[in-house]
Amino acid sequence: LLLLGATFGMIFVATYRLFLTRRLSLHSLVEQGLARKEFIPYYQPIVNVSNNSLYGCEMLARWQRPGCDMISPMEFIPYVEKSGQIFPITEQLLSRAAREMDKLNWQETRQVISINIVPDQLEHPDVMKRALALLEESNISPDQIAFEVTERKRFTDLAMASNVIEQLRDQGIDVKLDDAGTGYGGFSYIQQLNIRSLKIDKMFVETIGTSDIKLSLLDSIIAFGKEAGMEMIAEGVETCEQSTYLANRGVVLQQGFYFGKPMEFRDFAYYCKSIVAS
Ligand code: C2E
Ligand code: CA
Ligand code: CA
Ligand code: CA
Repeated sequence: LLLLGATFGMIFVATYRLFLTRRLSLHSLVEQGLARKEFIPYYQPIVNVSNNSLYGCEMLARWQRPGCDMISPMEFIPYVEKSGQIFPITEQLLSRAAREMDKLNWQETRQVISINIVPDQLEHPDVMKRALALLEESNISPDQIAFEVTERKRFTDLAMASNVIEQLRDQGIDVKLDDAGTGYGGFSYIQQLNIRSLKIDKMFVETIGTSDIKLSLLDSIIAFGKEAGMEMIAEGVETCEQSTYLANRGVVLQQGFYFGKPMEFRDFAYYCKSIVAS
């Protein structure tokens, strides 16, 4: 029995060590990535299908490690959210985005750049100030910035969050509820935080044309959004059928591979020109 216990103990220690080194190394890889400015913004178009104009874009993080393929945010965002490294990463993305956006004439065309943040970031007023300062370095104005805050994570301080959202709105900055319908607070968050825009998750959009039970949820979200006079953006639109279904129900702001994938700045700038020309 003693031997058995000792064996288990050893296995436990070994596993724990491995766990620690893995964690430590991911942490230091991210630190290295930050120092080398390996985190870069990609941009995905958001289109208004009622008149085929460009509403704006969503900024999505990519990790470009030398000698590796582009690393998807799914692989590091969950970790950096926990480690707190999401703060300097967002700052790095925004400082590059400010320089890049300055090269578009969005001050004339009034499009919006929508930035992903986690509830933690919304609850830190200093972070928001820093984010705004960075975007003010470009030529776009506050009403051309929006934040997407996911409801997949819990808000720890709703009063503080609602306060920050109000201050942002006073400056013209919209806060959108991201992944609406998939997470914690749902409709109670919308009310308590006084949120006026929804991003409809692709989980619901992909049910269009199927007999999935979630299709009725999509219809309810749209009905709710309309009733409450909210702005709605559907994400994950991949087909003409999905786009038409949504447009017929009044959801004209759409984003997805059907219109364009997330792309680096050079390609996005080209995309913007081509949509204006068409
Ligand atoms: P999200 O905010 O829900 O972003 C939409 C995701 O759907 C993006 O994945 C986008 O590339 C993908 N997508 C867009 N259109 C389509 C489509 O038509 N079909 C399919 N299959 N997918 C589509 P991505 O870029 O891999 O980002 C994954 C998630 O990582 C994001 O989901 C967001 O939650 C998080 N994320 C990305 N960048 C940041 C960031 O800078 N900060 C934070 N906090 N989270 C981020
Ligand atoms: Ca988003
Ligand atoms: Ca400028
Ligand atoms: Ca989503």
